[in-house]
Amino acid sequence: MTSVQPDRVRSGQSSQFTAAVVDEFGPNLNVRDVDLPKPGPNQALVKLIASGVCHTDLHATEGDWPVKPEPPFIPGHEGIGEVIELGPGKHSVSVGDIVGNAWLWSACGDCEYCRTGRETQCNDAEYGGYTQDGSFGEYMLVDTRYAARIPEGVDYLEAAPILCAGVTVYKGLKVSETKPGQFMVVSGVGGLGHLAVQYAKAMGMRVIAVDIAEDKLDHAKEWGAEFVVNAKDEDPVQAVQAYTDGGAHGILVTAVHKDAFGQALGMARRDGTIVFNGLPPGEFPASVFDIVFRNLTIRGSLVGTRQDMAEALDFYARGLVKPTVKECSLHEINDVFELMRQGKIDGRMAIRY
Ligand code: NAD
Ligand code: ZN
Ligand code: ZN
Repeated sequence: MTSVQPDRVRSGQSSQFTAAVVDEFGPNLNVRDVDLPKPGPNQALVKLIASGVCHTDLHATEGDWPVKPEPPFIPGHEGIGEVIELGPGKHSVSVGDIVGNAWLWSACGDCEYCRTGRETQCNDAEYGGYTQDGSFGEYMLVDTRYAARIPEGVDYLEAAPILCAGVTVYKGLKVSETKPGQFMVVSGVGGLGHLAVQYAKAMGMRVIAVDIAEDKLDHAKEWGAEFVVNAKDEDPVQAVQAYTDGGAHGILVTAVHKDAFGQALGMARRDGTIVFNGLPPGEFPASVFDIVFRNLTIRGSLVGTRQDMAEALDFYARGLVKPTVKECSLHEINDVFELMRQGKIDGRMAIRY
C-alpha cells in the first residue's frame, strides 16, 4: 500500500509538532516542539482531534509506579483522531478513518495471554502514553491492529474518556461477576468512577457510590446511584453494611487514595468480589482471616481487551453512558493536573486540538 504523506509535510511546513512532554519526572509537562514520527509496519500516523486526561497520565508524569516509562515521553491514552498516513504493509484501517489510541497500544498476539483473550496481560504489550508516545500532542502513532475504532456520528471530545476510563470500569464490572439486581459499590467517583456508576446502572446493578467530595456524590445520584456515602464524614464500611444488610456483592475501587482499598474489603458481602482499578502508590492492610472466613475474592483489573473496548464504545454509542467532559487546551495541561491532584475535576477534562 502506498503511504500518504501527512498534510503538513506535504505542504512543505514544519516536520515538527507541538506536544506535552515529560522530560523528567515531576509535577510539570513541557509543551514544546517534537519531531513528527514516520509510521512503521502495522502503524498509522494520526492527527489528533481530542484526548482525555486520565489520572494515570499524572502517575506517569510523576513517575509514581515501580515500572517507569523512560523520559522523554508523551503521555495520553484517550486520544481520538484521523488516520493521515499508513506505514508499509496491509492495514485494516484506511486514511481518513477515525481511530483512538488506548493504554493497550499493542500486544504480541502470539503468547499464552494473547491467544486466550487476555491480551492486556501480554508480557510484550506496549502501553499508550507510557512505553509508546501518546495523545498529548497534535499527532501520534497507533498500531492499526490495536487502535480503537470510533463509532460513526459520535462527539469525539465526549467519546474520548471511553477509551480508558470507560473500558477499564466496564471490564472491572464484568469481572466482578456481580449480577443484575445485586449491589455494586463504586468507590471513587472521578473520571473512571463517574462512568462506572453509569455502566453498573446500565448493567442492571444497584449502585452505591463512595467518594470524599460531596459534589461528586450529588452527581452520582443523578447518574443512577441509589445510595451515596461521603467517606470523609462517615465510616463507609458501616454505612454500606447497614444499607445492604450484609455488604455489597461487588466493589469496584477507582479511588486514588489507598485508604479506599482496605475499606473495600469491609464493604463486601460474604462471597463478594472486590475489583481494584485504582492505582495509587502504596499498600493497604488486609486480614487473612477476614478474606478466608468470608470467602472474599480480590482481583486487579487492567484496562480491557479490544473486544471490551468495542463493547464499552457500543454502550456509549447507544446512549447508555454519557461522559461528563470539560474542554481544555494542550497548553493548559499543567493546570489540569493541578486540579486533578486536588480532586477538583468533575468527570473528565479533555483536550481539543
Ligand atoms: P480521578 O482523579 O479522576 O478520580 C479519582 C477519584 O477518587 C476522585 O473523585 C477522588 O475524589 C476520589 N477519592 C480520593 N480519595 C478517596 C477515598 N479515600 N475514598 C473514595 N474516593 C476517593 O482519577 P481517574 O482518572 O478516575 O483514575 C483513578 C485511578 O485509576 C488512578 O489511580 C488511575 O491511575 C487508575 N486507572 C487504572 C486503570 C486500570 O486499568 N486499572 C485505568 C485507568 C486509570
Ligand atoms: Zn502476547
Ligand atoms: Zn487511563
